[in-house]
Amino acid sequence: MELSGKVSVVTGGVQGIGRAIALRLAELGSDVAVMDLKEEGSAELLSEMRALRRKPFFARADVSLSSDVDAAAEEIIGLFGRVDVLVNNAGITRDALLMRMDEKSWDSVISVNLKGTFNCTRAFLRGMIKRRSGRIINVSSVVGIMGNAGQSNYAASKAGVIGFTKSVAKEVASRGITVNAIAPGFIDTEMTRVIPEEARKSFLLSIPAGRAGAAEDVANVVAFLASDGASYITGQTIHVDGGMLM
Ligand code: NAP
Repeated sequence: MELSGKVSVVTGGVQGIGRAIALRLAELGSDVAVMDLKEEGSAELLSEMRALRRKPFFARADVSLSSDVDAAAEEIIGLFGRVDVLVNNAGITRDALLMRMDEKSWDSVISVNLKGTFNCTRAFLRGMIKRRSGRIINVSSVVGIMGNAGQSNYAASKAGVIGFTKSVAKEVASRGITVNAIAPGFIDTEMTRVIPEEARKSFLLSIPAGRAGAAEDVANVVAFLASDGASYITGQTIHVDGGMLM
């Protein structure tokens, strides 16, 4: 796999799965712009990418706000000239059983996970259409397919991401752009480290591979979807879950 000369954008790229994706794309030769709310840790990430002899960039942006995203996109395109690969990875959880879920928890999860994916895709798609090439990779979740008690907001947002992926894939396939989703299962990151021990154990029991995934397991699949070898794959959801959902 080779991504030399490519320019990639990874949202929520400062930590967790996004960080692993940003580093994997850089290792394969891509320059990488990271868009994240979180600034802490970005300097270290940028210096790791510089050590790989890549041109990195950090843009502080809340993906749920189109004004933030459009301003960051303008800066990124101004600096790099174009974007070849967009990875919509930023995501949050605000878990509660539906009867106890407040409107704010519903709105914030849909705004970041689903509207954020829309905002970023819209901001970078025009350039891809003009150049008749591009890769968009949206991070969904196994929960968007299976559902999960206590995560109706998150599951709805991630199922929405899959429907969005298929629709945009159909709109732009003839322009040389692929749009795919990844559905990670249980991946060891800050997001899952807050899950109570009992629930963690029961998740692990439901994984045939017998272990939580690593962020790098997801990053490797993103790298493949971003590569030239994946040019005939579009509108798909690739499961990276150790067999959790078959
Ligand atoms: P994480 O460790 O919490 O990292 C998410 C990153 O996104 C953080 O840097 C976070 O910044 C940033 N972010 C949050 N809201 C944002 C916003 N509005 N605008 C820009 N950046 C924002 O999560 P993760 O586990 O790596 O998850 C990455 C993606 O994979 C998410 O979409 C998640 O839903 C999905 N996923 C994860 C798992 C899993 O098991 N971990 C499974 C399936 C799917 P702050 O820390 O400042 O909020």
